[in-house]
Amino acid sequence: MTTFFKFLMYLTFVTMLHKTTAQKIAFAIHGGAGTILRQNISEQQEKEIKEDLYKALKAGYEILEKGGTALDAIEIAIRILEDSPLFNAGKGSVIAANGKIEMDASIMDGKTLRAGSVAGVRTIKNPITAARAVMEKSKHVMLTGKGAEEFAEMHGIEITDPSYFFINKRIEQLKEAKESEWRGDNNILYNDHKYGTVGAVALDKYGNLAAGTSTGGMTNKKFGRVGDSPIIGAGTYADNRSCAVSCTGHGEYFIRYTVARTVAALVEYKRWSLKKALHYVLFEELLPNGGRGGIIAVDKNGNISTQFNTEGMYRAWIDHKGNYEIKIYE
Ligand code: ASP
Repeated sequence: MTTFFKFLMYLTFVTMLHKTTAQKIAFAIHGGAGTILRQNISEQQEKEIKEDLYKALKAGYEILEKGGTALDAIEIAIRILEDSPLFNAGKGSVIAANGKIEMDASIMDGKTLRAGSVAGVRTIKNPITAARAVMEKSKHVMLTGKGAEEFAEMHGIEITDPSYFFINKRIEQLKEAKESEWRGDNNILYNDHKYGTVGAVALDKYGNLAAGTSTGGMTNKKFGRVGDSPIIGAGTYADNRSCAVSCTGHGEYFIRYTVARTVAALVEYKRWSLKKALHYVLFEELLPNGGRGGIIAVDKNGNISTQFNTEGMYRAWIDHKGNYEIKIYE
């Protein structure tokens, strides 16, 4: 039996289990949004991407099912995606203009509104774990560069040689991005090949929400550039009173429009559904102003919404009714 088949059986079991239990849990992940076109992805690539998505989905969901916390579910799922070379986070991250990989990640606990993030790190194998340590073991929210790396090492988090993160595809993409920059293409940062940021949102059986995001940023970004992913309120936000949100896309726009926090505010203050809030931010605020990307979110009742204003977004979820999906396109 193929792993995929086993997973389908597992999900059927999960659906049945859900109908007999009262506690709501829900989980969603993304692997980035962008110019994801069917003609650019082979069947084999699609299969591999979906396999890693469901590995992460399953790992996170199992934690929630066993009574684990939303934070644990998020961390484990994001670690799996960071370890996969198929996504732009951890191994397989995109490369900055100076030829180096600098990663950003953040996590937020909707119960306490505590949050942690790291930015511009080059040696931390799983930046999401370092972000969580910043939240739980420091008095701060955000640590950058060498300070973040030293802090991670001090707390026993795995450190690796920067070469571990590099894969050939990203080296090619940097070359292409540089060539298009020399040709005068203005859209060099957000071209065809930068998607793959990863994120997760969860509702656990204690009614707590959490969100996390991890990325290598954007191909050919300036050395030192920080995107939205490690910025609480831009790329990541969670609040038990409303929802948990993780974003992907052209980070500069997500920072300017404080996307994750805006979604939560619309849900909390205007009492909009997640669906309406995500749609508004993506299509009324970002798109008309040139901001492209996607958002995943779960609310305090376990409703999930995943939307994007790009051609596709890698995403997967299991909602509070046990309904599941793994999708790339519309
Ligand atoms: N939002 C990420 C950044 O700007 C990139 C992405 O999600 O594709 O760093």
